[in-house]
Amino acid sequence: MHIFDELISAVGPDVISRDQVKRKDYSSDKWFAAHLPDLVAEPTNAQQVAAILRIASRHRVPVTPRGAGYGYVGGCVPEEGGIALSVIRMNRIKELSVPDGVAVVEPGVITGDLQAAARNAGLFYPPDPASFRNSSIGGNIATNAGGPRCLKYGVTRHYVLGLEVVLANGTIVRVGGRTMKNKTGFDLVGLFVGSEGMLGIVTEATIRVIPLPPARASISASFREIEDAAEAVQQILKAGFLPSALEIADKFTLESARKHLGHQIVPAGNAHLLVDLDGQEKSVQNELVILESLVKKLGALSIDTAFGETECEALWDLRRGFSESLKATGLTKLNQDVTVPRGRLVDLVKFAAELQKRSGFPIACFGHAGDGNIHVNVMVAEPEKPENHQRMDETLDALFEQIIAWGGAITGEHGIGLAKKRWWPQAVSGENLALHQTIKSALDPDRLLNPGKFL
Ligand SMILES: Cc1cc2nc3c(=O)[nH]c(=O)nc-3n(C[C@H](O)[C@H](O)[C@H](O)COP(=O)(O)OP(=O)(O)OC[C@H]3O[C@@H](n4cnc5c(N)ncnc54)[C@H](O)[C@@H]3O)c2cc1C
Repeated sequence: MHIFDELISAVGPDVISRDQVKRKDYSSDKWFAAHLPDLVAEPTNAQQVAAILRIASRHRVPVTPRGAGYGYVGGCVPEEGGIALSVIRMNRIKELSVPDGVAVVEPGVITGDLQAAARNAGLFYPPDPASFRNSSIGGNIATNAGGPRCLKYGVTRHYVLGLEVVLANGTIVRVGGRTMKNKTGFDLVGLFVGSEGMLGIVTEATIRVIPLPPARASISASFREIEDAAEAVQQILKAGFLPSALEIADKFTLESARKHLGHQIVPAGNAHLLVDLDGQEKSVQNELVILESLVKKLGALSIDTAFGETECEALWDLRRGFSESLKATGLTKLNQDVTVPRGRLVDLVKFAAELQKRSGFPIACFGHAGDGNIHVNVMVAEPEKPENHQRMDETLDALFEQIIAWGGAITGEHGIGLAKKRWWPQAVSGENLALHQTIKSALDPDRLLNPGKFL
């Protein structure tokens, strides 16, 4: 029997499709690459996922897992065709337990929906990728997504207590559990988190949710130069603050924002810092006063403070507008989510300025200064023109070479996918690469899960 008919008889015609429009919809994410799958599968439970994988593995047909398709690196692009398997219909929050501090969710739950459900129950799910309104929990787990709050609260990995995963051969396995501490065997949860759909398909996750801090405050401050803002980052941490977010932006980003958002919401200066505090009301109010005076002492040109969710969000409008402002320049933004040891922040911005001179491409830096994860955006006019290709490659090669030389990471949040594949062999040792291959071969000997990516 043809695989299409076999799949239909196993899981039904509402799950399997070869409709051209659907295939196109599932051929790409938010990066540039696209490849059509031969078939699309939209299962509604783990048993269907397992049945599809069993059949695919018997026919040696590749399967590329997919969440919301909001990835930034082409991770869910079905590079070798086969089946694009979307879990987006598996979108139930099965349980939200206040006494246990856990949520049990299906992988297609949208991150923002989990955050909102937790908040309604007085709980907090801290990981906050900027794509939270669109990305799925399964996608966040597969990419170990991060965001501004990771400085204080950690990345997705720190909130995954247990997983149900379907392996390439269709075996359903549960790893971890629903307790904060669990040292029963290897850290297999950690193995699957960040595995970019290459080791198994997540069909359920038990997520840690913590008490919701009742109060929040923000400080928005501008500085003359990026060095002053970077020094302020170090001094804030040195003074014993652990802000829930500590975001920095450079001159090019601010100038784009001035053009796009208007001068009234973008303060004067060539650098900007946004600091968030959270906790109990009185402590946050006290900390806000001390922090404001520290930031003043550190040479801020302007300071705005906010207390409470609504006021803080108004200050965050500027930060959330940076990406759009860069896009509004009309240039194509090649967004690199590199991470450097925090002490290299100024070096990174200086290096970006030098690279800008050398390459002729404007480079904009902004992002999570507290944890060294800075979005370095190489801004290119007409990237499709062949004469730009070599210069683009050389610019990115130089950036990643420097990041690796500093002991940084070529990707802090988005993953490798297709976009960073070129630099993966330089980013890890030969032994590390071989270990990855050994793990892949053990779990997916026929290399059917998400082929064409970095292994
Ligand atoms: C505007 C914008 C802002 C962003 N901001 C951030 C940010 O601040 N922080 C951040 O970390 N990322 C950010 N991203 C990147 C992206 O949103 C994250 O990588 C997110 O986790 C992707 O989720 P998704 O559901 O869209 O996954 P997809 O794009 O569908 O898939 C991503 C990867 O996960 C795999 N996958 C998906 N679901 C499963 C599953 N159930 N089981 C196994 N593998 C699976 C896929 O095979 C693929 O490799 C941003 C993206 C955009 C477009």
